[in-house]
Amino acid sequence: MAFSEFRPLDEKVLIEYIRATPSLASKLGNKFDNLTIKEVGDGNLNFVFIVVGSSGSFVIKQALPYIRCIGESWPMTKERAYFEALALKEHGSLSPDHAPEVYHFDQTMSLIGMRYLEPPHIILRKGLIAGVEYPLLADHMSDCIAKTLFFTSLLYHNTTDHKKALSQYNQWTSPYLDSDAEAVRGDKALKLEVAELKSLFCERAQALVHGDLHTGSVMVTHDSTQVIDPEFAFYGPMGFDIGAFLGNLILAFYAQDGHANDQNDRKAYKAWILRTIENTWNLFDRKFLALWDANKDSGDAYLPAIYNNPALLQLVQKKFIKDLLHDTLGFGAVKMIRRILGVAHVEDFESIADASKRAGCERRALELAKLLLKERKKFQDINEVISAIQQHQ
Ligand code: ADP
Ligand code: MG
Repeated sequence: MAFSEFRPLDEKVLIEYIRATPSLASKLGNKFDNLTIKEVGDGNLNFVFIVVGSSGSFVIKQALPYIRCIGESWPMTKERAYFEALALKEHGSLSPDHAPEVYHFDQTMSLIGMRYLEPPHIILRKGLIAGVEYPLLADHMSDCIAKTLFFTSLLYHNTTDHKKALSQYNQWTSPYLDSDAEAVRGDKALKLEVAELKSLFCERAQALVHGDLHTGSVMVTHDSTQVIDPEFAFYGPMGFDIGAFLGNLILAFYAQDGHANDQNDRKAYKAWILRTIENTWNLFDRKFLALWDANKDSGDAYLPAIYNNPALLQLVQKKFIKDLLHDTLGFGAVKMIRRILGVAHVEDFESIADASKRAGCERRALELAKLLLKERKKFQDINEVISAIQQHQ
């Protein structure tokens, strides 16, 4: 270990650290002249340094023991770096094409060294604001979500392994849904739904979820899709991740009218976002069930001795997917509401300069979110969700 106690990084400390850490130094071919170091953390919680040398590069992410933009008066456990490293490694082994490789982890320094996702990779949310289509996005996202969720659930794990795996993560949960419950204070029907989702969030250790799978946690190019930043990973309900991703795509959809101008009415782009929502879900459904069929003798969830009848298994799968759609819509809607009424707003809307235009977009998104939340159990498939979005624009 390079340092014996935690030190927040600056450029000088970072260089000293890299020199003393063989796994990082070797990535740079042990050449330390002409290093370019750039701090790019746009978040409020961590330092993110991009380090580029003449023979290699990496990213260093360090968790700070307090909220960065507020200071030491608002502490936050830096142990989240451990969960992020653990989840990145797990994502990397289950879905290597869609997670940055981890080169180094240091618990004392709360520091991760990982692959630099070099340009033209950009944050998906920025691409969505700019109106860029990513033809492989739905295929890639459905792939990594299906694999991570399936192989970390009781459909694949036996009970002992599952308990062991989740005990590594679940000391750490963040009270994400508290503010949502507050935001909908006046609406009893909404509150009932939020309470149910909160119980799922806290009590259902279904699979390893990323925990923050919004469009700011995905980096993309035309043909690459990489999921970053699982610092809030935990064993939770599968719908939490799919809901976060789809909910953020729906927000991006509603923001488009605010980005439309004389050159581009964004109509075709809105249609692409809807297709991406539809394809992500449908491809996820197909891939997840294919993994289930291929591994149906594994896992303790549905023991083969009891569920080996093909018709019965089909029934079980159908119910599983429908319940998951309902969870997804619930969590997705709650995310949307939080991002409109809560503390952390999204750039999709914030970047709309005209305030009344922005408010109009937000209001339509909010109406849809409320409908999804209250009526989520009535939706039979993703096409009905798409129709609801089309009717509320
Ligand atoms: P935080 O959790 O503090 O928000 P992120 O993990 O989201 O930090 O990283 C912040 C920003 O740093 C990202 O939005 C992205 O622009 C950049 N970034 C993070 N990891 C990488 C990486 N592996 N390669 C390239 N850029 C990265
Ligand atoms: Mg983060």
